[in-house]
Amino acid sequence: MVTALFSASTERWDAFKGPLEQAFEAHGLQVNLVLEATPGEVDYIVCAPNGPVQDFSPFTKLKAVLNLWAGVEGLVDNATLNVPLCRMVDSGLSEGMAEWVTGHVLRLHLGMDTHILGQDGVWRAGRIPPLARDRSVGILGLGALGQACAQALCALNFPVSGWSRSPKSVDGVTCYSGDTGFEQLLCVADILVLLLPLTPATHHILDATALKALPKGAMIVNPGRGPLIDDAALLAALDVGQIGQATLDVFATEPLPPEHPFWAHPRVTVTPHIASETRPSTASQVIAENIRRGEVGELLLHVVDRNAGY
Ligand code: NAP
Repeated sequence: MVTALFSASTERWDAFKGPLEQAFEAHGLQVNLVLEATPGEVDYIVCAPNGPVQDFSPFTKLKAVLNLWAGVEGLVDNATLNVPLCRMVDSGLSEGMAEWVTGHVLRLHLGMDTHILGQDGVWRAGRIPPLARDRSVGILGLGALGQACAQALCALNFPVSGWSRSPKSVDGVTCYSGDTGFEQLLCVADILVLLLPLTPATHHILDATALKALPKGAMIVNPGRGPLIDDAALLAALDVGQIGQATLDVFATEPLPPEHPFWAHPRVTVTPHIASETRPSTASQVIAENIRRGEVGELLLHVVDRNAGY
């Protein structure tokens, strides 16, 4: 019998308890899944970075920390965490992100706001959007989520480019990496989607220089992390028309304060960090599989590279 401590909000516990127990059974595991335990008896912690466990040092028998989120900031630099840390790669999370991103890319591409917000008796004829094949989408980050979005956008005929740290090959996607690749991708991205993790190397990666490298009037969709973008530079770029529109799901401060200029900006859409989330039924399978692997000494899935920060 192994003990797994669940360290996240009570809402998450209510959503995950049943699916996790089913997944453990399906994987032939005997797991004592608990909300509280004597630290020295805990084998695995299933956690959210903002969960109650912040000091991992009392957990002397701990084998791994299994994150419920894809993003690991808040855990990756925790000096008390000295066992493998696994991030969440969940098919449900990826599917949800692909739906949210394609929805917002299509909305920007088709200029839907003109008619949704313009129900004012003015017949605005003659504004036919180009075909998707003539609008290029660039995705910063070609990981689990970036690739899912790239594939969904390719299926809609958008020419898709992606950028990652290591060179990649993804069917139908023009792949770039490194500093030169970053500039090459920016030059062609009529719509730019940010799906990078937040690390020291990606903080403010979309600064004034990068915004200027985009085609004039480019549109931005950010479901990655708020601090990937320099907010002041984005507001300045919107004001001069360098950036046409921005749809932002994540922010440096969340909730986004009511007085923040993004709320009132006519060409910014704010969504409250709802692009996608870990889905209990599919994510529980991933957690159970990792505990199974841990118990038989196999390599764990999705182990975070603590040096790279993701
Ligand atoms: P992932 O699988 O780890 O992929 C990250 C991608 O970013 C990889 O392609 C990686 O390159 C690339 N990358 C990282 N650092 C880089 C750098 N310095 N330069 C160039 N490329 C770099 O992560 P994921 O599961 O796709 O998730 C991405 C992010 O989405 C998460 O970290 C989180 O912040 C965000 N997220 C948001 C929501 C929401 O609801 N808004 C939900 C879930 C996740 P390599 O392929 O070479 O490693």
